Amino acid sequence: MVAPNYDVVVVGAGGDGPVTAWKLAEAGLSVLVLEAGPFYGNEQWPKPSEESGGEASSSSTDLSGELLDEQFTTREFEMVNKLLFGPADHERGFWFRKFPGDGAILQCAGVGGTTLHYTGCHPRAYPASVDEQGHWPIDYADLLPYYREIEAMCEVSPAPVTAKEELFFRGAARAGWDLLHDLNVTEPGYRPQPNAIRRPDPKLHVDAGYDGDFSYPEVEGDTLALGNIAGNPHPRGAPYEEKAKRSSNVSFVPAALETGNVTIRPNAFVTDVRTETSLGDRPTATGVTFRDTWSGRTERVDAEVVVLAAGAIETPRLWLNADLPDNEWVGRGLTIHFGDNVMGLWNEDDLDELLGKDTVDQHEGQDIAARFDYPGLGMLQTVGTTPGVGAILGFGASASGFTFQNDTADAPWDTMGRLAGPELKRLLADYRRMLQVLVVSDDRPHRRNGVTVTPGLADEHGPIPVVNYEPSEGDQKRRDELATIAAEILREAGASHVHRSDSPPTALHVHSTMRMGKVLDEACEAYDVERLFVADHSALPNGVGGANPTNTGQALAARTADEILDRCF
Ligand SMILES: Cc1cc2nc3c(=O)[nH]c(=O)nc-3n(C[C@H](O)[C@H](O)[C@H](O)COP(=O)(O)OP(=O)(O)OC[C@H]3O[C@@H](n4cnc5c(N)ncnc54)[C@H](O)[C@@H]3O)c2cc1C
Repeated sequence: MVAPNYDVVVVGAGGDGPVTAWKLAEAGLSVLVLEAGPFYGNEQWPKPSEESGGEASSSSTDLSGELLDEQFTTREFEMVNKLLFGPADHERGFWFRKFPGDGAILQCAGVGGTTLHYTGCHPRAYPASVDEQGHWPIDYADLLPYYREIEAMCEVSPAPVTAKEELFFRGAARAGWDLLHDLNVTEPGYRPQPNAIRRPDPKLHVDAGYDGDFSYPEVEGDTLALGNIAGNPHPRGAPYEEKAKRSSNVSFVPAALETGNVTIRPNAFVTDVRTETSLGDRPTATGVTFRDTWSGRTERVDAEVVVLAAGAIETPRLWLNADLPDNEWVGRGLTIHFGDNVMGLWNEDDLDELLGKDTVDQHEGQDIAARFDYPGLGMLQTVGTTPGVGAILGFGASASGFTFQNDTADAPWDTMGRLAGPELKRLLADYRRMLQVLVVSDDRPHRRNGVTVTPGLADEHGPIPVVNYEPSEGDQKRRDELATIAAEILREAGASHVHRSDSPPTALHVHSTMRMGKVLDEACEAYDVERLFVADHSALPNGVGGANPTNTGQALAARTADEILDRCF
């Protein structure tokens, strides 16, 4: 049952909220986590999308791997629909957010948040993005103990190499780049991804010739069977906490529940942050109001401290809808790692010579297992996808129209733009001989980019987020430079055809809309509201240089928990 008051209420059980909840609960505080989406794999909600089920979960004995396997199928289309940002009852559609152009915001609602989707890449920020870009009020060194804590909890280790990584590493080495060994990256180079995915079972090594069952307990750890974007919690049959991908529901949520001090209430959309103000003082947060997404009933809960962890789109939306004090940076400064896709295609004979087999097989291994870092520009990473997702990302949309509209005579790629008709068919038919490289640029925070709300555009939880994103010339330039390096690496790896998408802005990584130093102080407490903290990626002052952000978001959320203990209890 949910009590009327707690020491701390955390809004959102996504990537970062459970980290703060776990740390505060370990210190003995009572913590309520309110999550807008469902709680999958929990016996309180055996049919989370069909019935309202229980009210809240306070024990790790509620967690069930068997139930998670039942609810998270390997059917890609079904899972992509299930993991939308919307209520547990999918018949009611998803929660709409307005985004410019052909792009979209990809986020999940549910315990685990967008880490249900994520591919587990857990690199650290580039030190220069913290210490040299001038956005951060703390030093990179301040994050280091927290990185270590998060990496231990998420069992971060170098990703295993399959054919697609082998090709990428070979191309990068031939293009003259160095192999990087340090987790704190200061120079450009390539390396295996530090992934928050358990090491594969040694019997799956290519030399071991294993052809048995891929379920637990025959196989423990990662099965190299991809599917993380679709939430596939392999190995199937494993207990909840033994799933290979350490998304926050599998890592921090069980640890938080095990303290006995945490209650998680899913299906609870927070619509207001309540405050009290004595004469002449800044307002102080005293609790929140939330709406049960099944019954539509509104409830309130009081707390000594309120932590917003609803993600970089919904946290500013909540602030703006709650009518908290004006601050010109609330919702502003959005970074999304302005991305692109560059694909290489190989001839059968060349591949045979390079790899000893005539296919790359993007669908084998971990989804994203090789990377190229370039502090100051961003990163490249190989992407293993199934043909459906790969076709959407790589060929389905382009900011520069169809391929036949673009002259690529002097470009480092053979074709650029959206593919259709026989050309699309030809490339998709050769899908197993293709490698996709995702370009992730170090876009910088600009005040014009971000979240606003307007009273006329509302859903059942109030005005919806209206998102603006326009890359600057500098952002475009960094992305172009990275795309050129990607093309060089693919060519050096022997690709016979290179295609660039010139993708429209799409928000896979969203950050920096409630920036430390602008909206939040160095403890991530709001400058304008006492006892109101933020512990999600919106608190990041920039896009951490282009590295995947979750390790840094979680490290900062762990640090924020220590700051809360220090200041408020
Ligand atoms: C396909 C894909 C792959 C990715 N892969 C990686 C990767 O490999 N590595 C990496 O670092 N990052 C990756 N990311 C990004 C990563 O998942 C996010 O950056 C991270 O989850 C953000 O954490 P967060 O806590 O800020 O927000 P979220 O994880 O989005 O969590 C916010 C939570 O708050 C809830 N919520 C929202 N509003 C309310 C409200 N009003 N009341 C109550 N609850 C609310 C939401 O339902 C959600 O559960 C990927 C993203 C996608 C889409």
